[in-house]
Amino acid sequence: MKIFNTLTRQKEEFVPIEEGKVRMYVCGPTVYNLIHIGNARPMIVFDTFRRYLEYKGYQVNYVSNFTDVDDKIINKAIEEGVDASEISTRYIAECKKDMEGMHILPATVHPLATQEIDGMIAMIQTLIDKGYAYAAKDGTVYYRTAKFASYGKLSHKNLDDLQAGHRDIQVTGDFKEGPFDFVLWKPKKEGEPAWDSPWGQGRPGWHIECSVMSKKYLGETIDIHAGGEDLIFPHHENEIAQSEAASGKEFSHYWMHNGFLNINNQKMSKSLGNFFTVREIAEKYDLQVLRFFMLSAHYRSPLNFSADLMEAAKNGLERIFTAAEQLERLLGASATGQMSEQEEALYAQSGQFQDKFEAAMDDDCNTADAVSAVFELVKFINMHVSAECSRAYLNKLYDRLRQLCGILGIKVRQEKQMLDAEIETLIEERNQARKNKDFARADQIREELLQKGILLKDTREGVTWKRV
Ligand code: AMP
Ligand code: ZN
Repeated sequence: MKIFNTLTRQKEEFVPIEEGKVRMYVCGPTVYNLIHIGNARPMIVFDTFRRYLEYKGYQVNYVSNFTDVDDKIINKAIEEGVDASEISTRYIAECKKDMEGMHILPATVHPLATQEIDGMIAMIQTLIDKGYAYAAKDGTVYYRTAKFASYGKLSHKNLDDLQAGHRDIQVTGDFKEGPFDFVLWKPKKEGEPAWDSPWGQGRPGWHIECSVMSKKYLGETIDIHAGGEDLIFPHHENEIAQSEAASGKEFSHYWMHNGFLNINNQKMSKSLGNFFTVREIAEKYDLQVLRFFMLSAHYRSPLNFSADLMEAAKNGLERIFTAAEQLERLLGASATGQMSEQEEALYAQSGQFQDKFEAAMDDDCNTADAVSAVFELVKFINMHVSAECSRAYLNKLYDRLRQLCGILGIKVRQEKQMLDAEIETLIEERNQARKNKDFARADQIREELLQKGILLKDTREGVTWKRV
C-alpha cells in the first residue's frame, strides 16, 4: 500500500513501525461553533482510510483531539457571558452528533487539550532545558526556531529564505528572538482560563497541544499524522520542531494532508463566512450523501462544493441502495439455498471489483476510483441476479457490496427498526405456515426476522421474540 507523504512529496510504500499495528493522529477541530463541511472533509477521508487499514487487518490506534482552549472559544464565551468550558463542552457534543451522522467511527481516544496541561508544561520545560525554547520577560515561552536545523522540512520552506522575505518584520514589542519563533505558553489575560506553570499563570499555545497528546496516546514516534493542508505550515511544521527537539526521534513517518473543500473555488472557512455547517446539510440530505460526495474525489485534490455535485452523489448512492434492495427482495423470495456452478463462476468474476477497489485504495487512498469499482459491482449485480438465483449466491454478492460500502462508511441498508406490529404479523404467518406443515416458509420467516435483528424463541406458551 502506498501513501503520498508530504514530508518527501512522494508516494511511499507504507511500512508500519510495529507489524500489524498503525498509530495515527488526526488534528481535530477547534470547538467554538458547529463544524462546517470543510472541517468534515479530513474527518471523512481519514476515517475512510482508517476503515481500510482495519479491513487490511491492521489494528489502528486512532487519536483525534478536540482543541478546547483557544482565542475563538474564549471570544465566544465572552460574547455569551459564560465560561469557556461551557462553549467547548457544548460544541464537542454537537460535533459528535455530526460525526455520528456522517458515520465517522469514534477515535480510540479523543483527547482534550485542557486535560493534558501537565504534559504540555513538561514538554515545554524539556525544550527550555535543551535550549530549544526560552521564556520572555512577560511570561511568554517561545520556541527557538533557529536552533532546530531542519525547521521547514515538512512545508519545504527554507528558514533563510523565509527570513530574507521578511526583512521588514522587525522583532518589536514582544520579546521574540526571531520572527518565526512561535508561542509555547502564553501568559494569562484577565478573564481567560489559565493554569499554573513555572512561567506564571497562563495557557498553552496551539501547536504544543498536538505534540503532547500524540506522544501521550501514541508514543514518541508514530506512523501517520494527518490533517487539512492548511495545517502543513505552521501547525505541523511546529509540531515536528517541538516533538523532535524534545525526544531526539523522528515524530511521524508519514504525513497525509487533504485538499480544501472550496466554494466558488475559494476555501470554505468560518472567517470568510462562505460556509455551510454539517447541520445545515443534514436538513436537506442524509449525511451519507455528504460523505459519498467527499469520497467521490481524491482526498488530495481540491473539491468544489455545489448543489449539482450533491445531487449527483445522492443519485449515485440511490443506485447502490436500489441494488441492495433488489438483493433483499430476491433473498426473501428465493427458493434454492445452494450455489450452482454457474453462480460460483459468476461470484468469482465479481471478485474483480473488489480487487479494483483494493488497488485504488492501496494507491494513496484513491476513494474516487474505489467508488467507481463499487459502481461496477452494482452494475454487475443488476445484470446477474434474478428470481432464479440461490440464496447463497445472493447473500455472497450482498456481503461483497456491504463490505466495500462499509469501508467507505456507507450503510447500504437504512436500518429501519421493524415495528412491533410488522413482527407480530410475520410471526402469525409463520404459525400458519407451520400448521400447514410448510416448514420451509416457516424457517424462511425466522431467518428473515433474524436478519432484521429479531430473534424468535419457540416456547410451550407460544412464540416469543426479542431484538438482538
Ligand atoms: P480547524 O477547526 O480550523 O482547526 O480545522 C479542523 C480541521 O479541518 C483541520 O484539519 C483543517 O485543516 C480542516 N479544514 C478546515 N477548513 C477546511 C476546508 N475548507 N477544506 C478542507 N479541510 C478544512
Ligand atoms: Zn494538531
